[in-house]
Amino acid sequence: MNIADAPVLTLADLAAWSRPGTALAVLGHPIKHSLSPRMHNAALAELARTDTRFATWQYVRFEIHPDDLPRALDLLHAKKFRGVNLTVPHKIIAFDRVAEIDPAARPVGAVNTLRWTERGWHGFNTDGYGLAAAVRETLGLDLTGAPIVLLGAGGAARGAAVECLQRRCASLWVANRTRETLDTLLAIIGPIASDVPFHGFSPATPPTDLPAGAIVINATSAGLRPEDPMPIDLAALPRPVAVFDMIYNPPQTGLLRAAADRGLPHANGLAMLVHQGAKSLEHWSGIPAGQTAPTMAAAARAARGLT
Ligand code: NDP
Repeated sequence: MNIADAPVLTLADLAAWSRPGTALAVLGHPIKHSLSPRMHNAALAELARTDTRFATWQYVRFEIHPDDLPRALDLLHAKKFRGVNLTVPHKIIAFDRVAEIDPAARPVGAVNTLRWTERGWHGFNTDGYGLAAAVRETLGLDLTGAPIVLLGAGGAARGAAVECLQRRCASLWVANRTRETLDTLLAIIGPIASDVPFHGFSPATPPTDLPAGAIVINATSAGLRPEDPMPIDLAALPRPVAVFDMIYNPPQTGLLRAAADRGLPHANGLAMLVHQGAKSLEHWSGIPAGQTAPTMAAAARAARGLT
């Protein structure tokens, strides 16, 4: 298969699906720009070189409207797709349609990975793992024991906050433009924070007792477009140890430029995308994520025109 040209399939294609072999799929709306098919098919091709089990595995993409998600998930299960990835806007909708949920994914309230079981779908969320692995790989830092300043309170921020708390960060400071969304996030993480101190604040007025040496993580979508405002003014914070932006397209957001100007270590979200993907494949294949991540990274970088 020409990985670069994997076609965008529809619900009708799924209803008519009769391809032999082991199938995996990503569902999104829109799905055209997803790098997941290239990453996964590159990893599967590499695995198939030494393990014939993977010779018949394929990863395809479906454009599915949110209204059609329940039917699509039923069809994928009936046709015995081994695994499914979910991207915007399906992660939260799918959470209510799984038969079993990974305990680590429950507080997030969203799933990005489903594994076929006789009883129905087993749901996981690998975004938090992807974040932790990416921060370690790109910045050489651990979430465990670190003060964290998390920007955003949407779906990605929720996953990041849960991961930081489950890994026992030193403290968690969440900034969000809209107070209501922030309060919802704080209410969700309260029960799992244990004795880790957590706080919410407006990015326009950072509190004076923010710790120095924090890892700043951008989980807002501010920075996707050139005209977007900065999610926070780095000059208004005590000097962080590093800045991680979940956005990878564009590769350098205004926030990362500001970090570079201040001489701070910084990284974009491409490695996070890679590691969440490798963890999904581990759930389906049993192959450790660390084994497939380098191939996925090379495929993602090639797809983005990087070498
Ligand atoms: P949501 O729509 O759920 O949340 C968006 C968040 O961004 C909210 O907190 C929102 O604040 C904030 N926001 C949006 N626009 C602005 C703005 N102009 N100024 C300040 N804040 C703003 O999106 P997700 O949580 O799903 O995704 C967030 C980002 O993370 C996206 O850019 C996505 O691409 C990226 N991501 C990357 C991944 C990776 O693997 N690298 C994985 C998952 C996500 P408010 O509540 O005030 O509206």
